Order: sequence, then structure tokens, then C-alpha cells
Amino acid sequence: MKVFAPGSTIGILGGGQLGRMTALAAAKLGYRCHIFCPGKNEPAVGVAAAHTCAGFDDRAALEAFAQSVDVATLEWENVPVEAPEIVGKHVPMYPGVEVLRMAQDREQEKTFARQAGVGTADFAIVRSEAELAEAMQRFSLPAILKSTRMGYDGKGQVKITSGMDAAQAWREMGSQVGILEAFIDFACEVSVIVAARADGETLAYPAIENVHRHHILDRTFAPARVDPSIADEAVQAAQLMARKLGVVGLLAVEFFVLRQPDGQGRRVLLNEIAPRPHNSGHWTMDACPTSQFEQLVRAVCGLPLGDVTPHSRAEMLNLIGEDANRWEEFLKMPQTSLHLYGKDDIRPGRKMGHVNFLKGAWNGKE
Ligand code: AMP
Repeated sequence: MKVFAPGSTIGILGGGQLGRMTALAAAKLGYRCHIFCPGKNEPAVGVAAAHTCAGFDDRAALEAFAQSVDVATLEWENVPVEAPEIVGKHVPMYPGVEVLRMAQDREQEKTFARQAGVGTADFAIVRSEAELAEAMQRFSLPAILKSTRMGYDGKGQVKITSGMDAAQAWREMGSQVGILEAFIDFACEVSVIVAARADGETLAYPAIENVHRHHILDRTFAPARVDPSIADEAVQAAQLMARKLGVVGLLAVEFFVLRQPDGQGRRVLLNEIAPRPHNSGHWTMDACPTSQFEQLVRAVCGLPLGDVTPHSRAEMLNLIGEDANRWEEFLKMPQTSLHLYGKDDIRPGRKMGHVNFLKGAWNGKE
């Protein structure tokens, strides 16, 4: 395994808040980051040593970028795969293109999980309105129709209830290929972030619990408020996914927690994976010796993975849209850490920052 020592340059595809926080963590360890993203005002640009503003289809710009970095990663999994493919011809690119393809397609992701022995909601792939209508006959409703590609924060998703018209649902989903999923009446949602190095070493953060509002992550509770055996099942499943995928860097795995064990005794079903830092890992910035962002840097550079044992319980609150205007209130609170992403344009539904509230010792009572 090649080690990229502090002082090396890390290339990051994507310039959003995840890239920004990765660049800040990399700087802490003495690395330089070079951000590649289309817009000059993206959050990561202002905190990185270098940036290239160009489209992900700009081959010449990607080649030049690759030649200026020692190792590369990404912060946005919907980046067109051709971009990491080009970069990967020059320097190690983590995650690899195969992992990325999998994470970009809900059908591949769920099929892979099932083959690995990790449960998912029942699903059917539908390629037309007629196929959807047919699948709706077989599924008990409600069910959820999602676009197989480019889905995040509930975009391209329609909840189908009985009496709903297939044509309307197909139109609302707005994509060429959809996945119809059984609706899971879950007890809660949890996620696990696993770090993996090129030599196969993996290390997982504890399972945490996520609460969504309008399909966007609202709060994360660390640790997850579930039975330890359920948390353990999620951690094992996430590590299994990371190992089977051969991912290098981070893998975030989101799960539904079932109210009762399913036919095979499982309590968690995989919903989604993301091979990059994840919103549900932001609490690690203030409650763990190593944040998920530093861990990504360590993993892709072949450094020893950092300690993931939290020192504090924590709750993370996302600041969406106008919430960001509450910054002064959060600054005055004890045991509270505010993170703003430097976005000047406040829009409804836009992630502007987050706050971590520390809730006492990890092993103590809240
Ligand atoms: P996703 O984009 O797949 O992560 O979905 C966003 C959110 O929609 C999830 O975090 C869940 O809260 C909800 N959701 C997605 N799929 C299902 C499902 N099959 N059953 C119930 N809720 C779902």
C-alpha cells in the first residue's frame, strides 16, 4: 500500500460542504487540497490550497488536475464516472469507478447488498408506465417509486398509495428507469460509516440514528437509540458491504430498523450506500478523536486509521435554508459547536451548516 505522507496534495472531485470539511481536515494534517468543481463560489474552493473550476466533462482540465495531485477522492457520488476514470489513469483515485457505478444506481446497490447477504426492502425495476402498473398489482401498497439514478434527499421519489394512478406516479418520478420499493414501516433509521484503507483494513464508527424532515436529514443522534444488538447488526452489515465492495476511503450505509425481526431474523434492512463522507457523520467532528473527514484523509493516504471511540454523546442538527440565520443563538450555547459552509445564497431546502450539541460522556448517562 502506497503511503502519501503529510505535505502531499489530495485532489477532490466536487466542491460542496463535504469537500470543504475534508479540505479543512486535510490541512490540519499538513496536506494540500486541490478542488475540482464547476463553480467558483462552491464551499470548498475558499478553504483549499488550489482549485480548478471546470465541468466534469472537461477532459483537458481533468488531466491537468490529475497531474497536479498525488492521490484523489470525491465528495459527490453522482459525479459522472468518466471524470474519476480520467483522474484514475494518473493517480490512485478512491473510491474506484466500480464502487461509484454501484452507488449511483439503486438497482445495482440493492442487488449487490442482497448477494452479500444484507437485507433490503423488496423491489422491482420498472422501465415504463406499463411495467409500473403491473408491479403495482403485485406490491402491497403503499410503496415507494424512486428513480434508479441521481436520487438524493428524496428527489425523484413518489409514495404510491392505493387508488393512485400509475401514469401520475410515473410522471412525478420523472425518470427513464424506476425502482418500486416496498414501503417499510420502520421503527427508526440508522447509519454506519466505515473507513477502509487500500490494504483492506476497515474501522467503523458506532451506529447512529437519523431523523428526516421533508426527506432531508434533520437530526442525528449519537449513539442510535436502539438495542445494542441492532446497532451491532448494522455495524456488521456495513463492514461486510465495505469489504465486499473493496472500497477505499469511506462508506456510509443507511439502514431501516424493523419493528420486528423479518422472516430471516433480521432487524435492519439496507436503504442506501454512499462512498464518501456523509451528513450523518458530521457529529464525529466534535464528539470523536478522529472526524469522518480526517478519517477519509487517513484512509486514502494510507495513514493509520484514527480512533473512532467517541468521547461524547452528541446530537447534530442540520441548518437548512433560513436556519442558518440562527448562528448567534448557537454560538451562545454551552457544549455546542457551529459549522457554517460559507454559502452566501440562502435557499429553502439548501444545507447551509450544522450544529453539534454535546450531551455528556459517551459511556455516561445523558
Ligand atoms: P432515500 O433517498 O432512498 O435515502 O430516501 C429518503 C428517505 O425516504 C429515507 O431516509 C426514508 O425516510 C424514506 N424512504 C425511502 N425509502 C423508503 C422505503 N422503502 N420505505 C419507507 N421509507 C422510505
